[in-house]
Amino acid sequence: MTSNRREFLLKGTLASAAVLAAPSIIAQSVLSAQKAPGPMVLSTWDHGIAANAAAWKVLVANGRALDAVEQGVMVPEADPLVTSVGYGGMPDRDGYMSLDACIMDEFGNAGSVAALQEIMHPISVARKVMEKTPHVMLVGEGAQDFALKQGFKKENLLTENARKAWEEWKKANQYTPVKFDRNNHDTIGMLAIDAKGNISGACTTSGMAWKLHGRVGDSPIIGAGLFVDNEVGGACATGKGEAVIRIAGSAIVVELMRAGLTPQQACEEAVKRIIRKQPDYKEFQVGFLAMNKRGETGAYSLEAGFQYALCIAGKNNLLDAPHHH
Ligand code: ASP
Repeated sequence: MTSNRREFLLKGTLASAAVLAAPSIIAQSVLSAQKAPGPMVLSTWDHGIAANAAAWKVLVANGRALDAVEQGVMVPEADPLVTSVGYGGMPDRDGYMSLDACIMDEFGNAGSVAALQEIMHPISVARKVMEKTPHVMLVGEGAQDFALKQGFKKENLLTENARKAWEEWKKANQYTPVKFDRNNHDTIGMLAIDAKGNISGACTTSGMAWKLHGRVGDSPIIGAGLFVDNEVGGACATGKGEAVIRIAGSAIVVELMRAGLTPQQACEEAVKRIIRKQPDYKEFQVGFLAMNKRGETGAYSLEAGFQYALCIAGKNNLLDAPHHH
């Protein structure tokens, strides 16, 4: 090797080491500057209020953030009046209820199910995938087989209301592939920090109403609908899943926090990235929530209307997220 070439390689290595080192130094200073902020929980949309209340019960009893987020999101999963998560959600265009969910713990373990049918609590199946298998993600029939073997029961999740809404949709839309519309979605994403300062997250949805059979959104995709790194914080997303997947949305928010941005700045930057790269951004909604190890939170959406529920010290409030347009 010529000495010039060696020098070039050395410089390159040093330069990339510096680039890599910078964010972790910042993250370490974020970590060392804080003590555990006290338990809190943050989740998407107004169904987040009841979900937070269930999560809070776990947190206030010194429970683990992982248990809190699972218990929390199980509330809208089982609520037939929540028409975008679990039981009571809207079906795909063939009339099947197809559910997506994922969960991450404080060790970076992850579990996920996609296109899961006839199981009331996909989040709990995702947790079993995480804890009982060497895998991260199970889909479709395989996910259902696994759930049944784990003792979950098969149930009809299509309510009469949802079936009627689907019949109406079919008449008006003649079975055309769906685009995102403001009324056909609303995942629950939840982030919690427990008394020990550990962060976990969960995300669960029936996805976009009238989607193509087999369509999977961002919600069960680790790094898109949800990402947690207990050294830094967590993030979750709602809105048009395709737009979120294309920027690895929640992973990006966490990485921006690692690089020194506040949770608020990180959520805004992720939305701006969608605006820069996706010219049709005015036609859909995307919202992000984030939380860091200090217990600072962030929320930002593309358009008005994104609400989130924040529970700190037992006070559970519904808030309007700032938005781009
Ligand atoms: N992100 C979900 C999906 O694309 C829907 C939503 O959160 O509004 O399936």
